[in-house]
Amino acid sequence: SIDPASDAAIAARVTPLPIADVAAKLSIPPDAIFRYGPHKAKLSLDFVADLFARPDRAPTGKLILVTAISPTPAGEGKTTTTIGLGDALSRLGERTAVCLREPSLGPVFGAKGGATGGGQAQIIPMQDINLHFTGDIHAISAAHNLLSALIDNHIYWGNGLDLDARRISWRRVMDLNDRALRSITVGLGGPPNGFPREDGFDITVASEVMAIFCLADGLDDLEARLSRMVVGQTRGRRMVTAAELNGIGSMAALLRDAFQPNLVQTMEGTPALVHGGPFANIAHGCNSVMATGSALALADYVVTEAGFGADLGAEKFLDIKCRQAGLAPAAAVVVATIRALKMHGGVPVKELGPENVAAVVEGTANLKRHVANLAKFGLPVAVALNRFTSDTPAEVEAVRDALGALGVTVHVCSHWAEGGRGAEDLARAVRDLAAQPSAFRFLYPDEMPLKDKIETVAREIYAAGRVEFSATALNRLKEFEAAGFGRLPVCMAKTQYSFSADPAVRNAPSGHALPIRDVRLSAGAGFVVALAGDIMTMPGLPSHPAAEHIFVTPDGVIAGLS
Ligand code: ADP
Ligand code: MG
Repeated sequence: SIDPASDAAIAARVTPLPIADVAAKLSIPPDAIFRYGPHKAKLSLDFVADLFARPDRAPTGKLILVTAISPTPAGEGKTTTTIGLGDALSRLGERTAVCLREPSLGPVFGAKGGATGGGQAQIIPMQDINLHFTGDIHAISAAHNLLSALIDNHIYWGNGLDLDARRISWRRVMDLNDRALRSITVGLGGPPNGFPREDGFDITVASEVMAIFCLADGLDDLEARLSRMVVGQTRGRRMVTAAELNGIGSMAALLRDAFQPNLVQTMEGTPALVHGGPFANIAHGCNSVMATGSALALADYVVTEAGFGADLGAEKFLDIKCRQAGLAPAAAVVVATIRALKMHGGVPVKELGPENVAAVVEGTANLKRHVANLAKFGLPVAVALNRFTSDTPAEVEAVRDALGALGVTVHVCSHWAEGGRGAEDLARAVRDLAAQPSAFRFLYPDEMPLKDKIETVAREIYAAGRVEFSATALNRLKEFEAAGFGRLPVCMAKTQYSFSADPAVRNAPSGHALPIRDVRLSAGAGFVVALAGDIMTMPGLPSHPAAEHIFVTPDGVIAGLS
């Protein structure tokens, strides 16, 4: 039976506005949207291209980044807070849009669940958005796998490029968690089936096509980036690009419709652009430039979320996305919960219920570190304390005191329980912060050598004492610089649970050694990935995945999604 307190049941109690009415809130004309049913639409490419090309485009909207403390199993609520803050700004009479990522089916059926917010702060229709939505992620899988097929087909028909089958880095993708496919052999069964070689699957959101989809600012840029992707090496170690397989036009054709930003709404009717969803480890972890750029041209306030904690998500949002797209955020919001602060303060997950002021105080070290880091980008910061029913007044006071010492105000937010009304105090503060003149800057300049960029992030953001590069990593960085990729930003792939490379070390460690085992070039996405530890590009399912609880009622309602 359907749980009446579930996110799906809460969302089902509101009647969504017709999507044309949502579009009208941003002055999007009816002929600029393509409807996918009554409550979803895509913005036409012509309309978006026009927004991007306008000479007066100097984006009028103010960009607000929602990020968080280092995640814990207790949960922080970035997406929920992004939606609640968007609704609160709408309630204050501001023309607001929310920009979020499209959920991947991996977490939806795995451990984490959906990515449409929770309680009274959700985007709707939540079932559609969490499942196939408008098909974008499937289109990305198809485009990616087309290139995989072209590679094996090229080898089958004589391998004119002299691709070394042992050095093909282009894997296959699907948008599900399936650990059995991480490492496979393809081409078995004799000569008609090609040449056997080792291969494997990543989850679609880890595909470089997804990262490109989210960083390209138009169809031309999309094609140019797809062309630059490196798929492997020849026997003579020359890098072979995707363009050499002659399928870029077909990939772009598969992606064309998907590339149009999706429009939906929050439960309170705030327009939400939900588009693209790259992994936050081997990619940068935020929604598309097409969506963010459109929103900034259409709304006065654009609230967006970056994945993971601020050390990863915000740093990459700022140093990769904002750098490439020429965006300058006006303010950042760091989300924290009392429960998560207690975990950083050393309390095990089973003991989070009872009041523990000392642990909260201890755990504020993590929050303060993230706040201080964002100041290094010149961003004004507000702290959103996402209220859980178990929080006590003394615990909340402890957080206020700790942050007050830094001159940062803590805003207790109850949007999960109350909707936008519960985040109005935060919204007023954000509006004030965003009115200040911007002092936004990147952490490092383009011309800094790649090794120094990695060391700068490690030192300034992770408080690491030193970086230990493997010999392979150092050699590759030199190769990338020699090949002309030295000006690219770095995309750090590190555990999200710790400032260190060890997920077990919570709170605010400093002076640790950060190991960089390997580096990878994402020439199309336009960054160099630095791997600080093992990075999962095809997650597995937990012993009792969410997939065991999702069902369709006899009258056709999809239930059990959270
Ligand atoms: P994030 O974006 O940081 O991963 P989400 O916003 O998706 O986090 O929230 C994770 C889960 O926590 C969701 O299921 C959401 O419903 C729940 N949640 C968020 N805020 C609260 C709250 N204040 N009280 C109870 N549950 C919450
Ligand atoms: Mg989220």
